[in-house]
Amino acid sequence: MIRRPAARRLVAPLAVLVLTLAAASGAVAAQTGAAAPAAAGLPVSIVKLVLLFIFFVLLAVFGNWLAGDAVAFEKRKEMWYGLFVGGAVLALVLALLVPIFAVGILLALLVAAAPVAAYVPWRNRQVPVQAKVFTAEHVRRTITQVLRREKVGEIAAERAVHIGGAAHLTEDSQLLYMDASDMPIRLTPQTEQELAVFSRGEAILTDALARQAGQAYLVPHGPEILVRYRIVGDVREGGKLDKPLGEGVIAFYKRLARLDVGEHRKPQVGRFVVLLGDQTTNVTVQTAGSVKGEHLVAALHGRRLLNMHVEESGMRREQVDRLRGALGTSGGGVILMSAPKHHGRTVSMYAALRELDLFARNVIAVEQDLSIEVPDVNQVEVNKASGQTLATAVQDVLRGDPDVVMVETVSDADAARMMLTGAAVGKIMIGGLVANDASEAVETFMKLAGDRQNVATTLLAATGQRLMRTLCAACREAYRPNPEFLRKANLQAAQVDVLYRETKSRPVNKKGEPVVCPLCRNQGYVGRTVLYEVVALDDRARQELAAGRSVAEIRTMLRKQGQEFLQEEGLHKVVDGVTSVSELLRVLKSAS
Ligand SMILES: [Zn+2]
Repeated sequence: MIRRPAARRLVAPLAVLVLTLAAASGAVAAQTGAAAPAAAGLPVSIVKLVLLFIFFVLLAVFGNWLAGDAVAFEKRKEMWYGLFVGGAVLALVLALLVPIFAVGILLALLVAAAPVAAYVPWRNRQVPVQAKVFTAEHVRRTITQVLRREKVGEIAAERAVHIGGAAHLTEDSQLLYMDASDMPIRLTPQTEQELAVFSRGEAILTDALARQAGQAYLVPHGPEILVRYRIVGDVREGGKLDKPLGEGVIAFYKRLARLDVGEHRKPQVGRFVVLLGDQTTNVTVQTAGSVKGEHLVAALHGRRLLNMHVEESGMRREQVDRLRGALGTSGGGVILMSAPKHHGRTVSMYAALRELDLFARNVIAVEQDLSIEVPDVNQVEVNKASGQTLATAVQDVLRGDPDVVMVETVSDADAARMMLTGAAVGKIMIGGLVANDASEAVETFMKLAGDRQNVATTLLAATGQRLMRTLCAACREAYRPNPEFLRKANLQAAQVDVLYRETKSRPVNKKGEPVVCPLCRNQGYVGRTVLYEVVALDDRARQELAAGRSVAEIRTMLRKQGQEFLQEEGLHKVVDGVTSVSELLRVLKSAS
């Protein structure tokens, strides 16, 4: 729950006001109590005062939560806040005016609780299942969270004690681990050697997280084990470990992922969760042996990413509307989503599903091998052991009469044809493809399905995308773009005064050392965004495509109608200062 300081500032004076009034009402109650002939006098009024005090503390707590919650949703904040304050004031009046104190306080409770009682179901209807409150699931989760916080605290304390002299580790080591079901994992080093291994394993994870790597690799290479990171599509070196240390680090990750540490050859897959500050990351560990030795891949998925909507991931409003239009088509059809490898396609596909009402529509995602677990989405894994193929898995899913089926990667002809079958019976079929852009995705899909005509008539939209680093807002450098560049890029000089790039000149301190940017640690970029093209086809485009026009011709036709593709969309991001020209060129160049 996001609570903003502004909401707190608003609530604190209200609480004080309410409490003061409560005290005053207590005093009045004491007076009336003393005036009543049957009353026992002062002791009773103290009880009343305490009761009133507790009542208004409760009110303030609820009010605080409500204000923070309403602000977090940015929806009808004033209305709910008004209702709540109105209820509180009315409650106060009732508590003061009703002659029988017990009845008064009961009525006051009811009146004050009514807005909260109305608010909770309203807000629960607007949020995904994991954000609902006062449900059985919420209560269970809150209890486990409290227990876990205690446990995590215990582990941290235990670790601090155990590590003792090795101060460097306590300083660097801010990582906490949980297993796939979010229960804390305790791993305490027993020897100096183990301490070195753990600390190195942690350093690699911390480094990978700081550099926003999508994957970390440990690859045997002669007498060493190389560390590599995949950062926004590119593989970067992350240092070397001597073999015993490297193998120790591999074993460390295997223990975290609950894999068989003694098994070095057979492929294994496991998961764990790592917490760093307020960042929670799901880590999928894959190990397998080769002639060179055991290697490991750790895929990192930020939890925030898994709950993301396409707009948060970088899709422009207009593009979201276009995608929504395609998803909302009645009578079914095919939507293709594509990206080169390692450009975040799977996460974008799940984010696209979030544009649907996941609770009202029956949405099922089919994956060859479940790569990530996504909240609120029904995910089906192809059951290869029982002879199921991707196509037969999709066929089985279609028998259950879903509204929308997502096929994470359409990898073969049978699966492509099953997509068309689904579309023919009125389903929205979303298919993922490895391709450089939307046009290439359409071509690939047509080839796979071997049925150009049918693809042309059912195709609703196609998307392409790139993962792109975003400039560090603290140290990016403004510059006046070259008019020639603007002309070539079709940007009118009058509209674009400055563009931004990563700074070329780092400031230096008195000693002449470069000052390190606190935000990006002189990387020049912080975080990443997705550059999308979302191409929706209208009836005319479908007819032209069915009539035998090439995808390139359709592309030209759509461009004339104002459709923008990756390059133009990327230039928007450059003009907005989100990224640099060099980063745009880098990601556009990368091929699948
Ligand atoms: Zn910076």
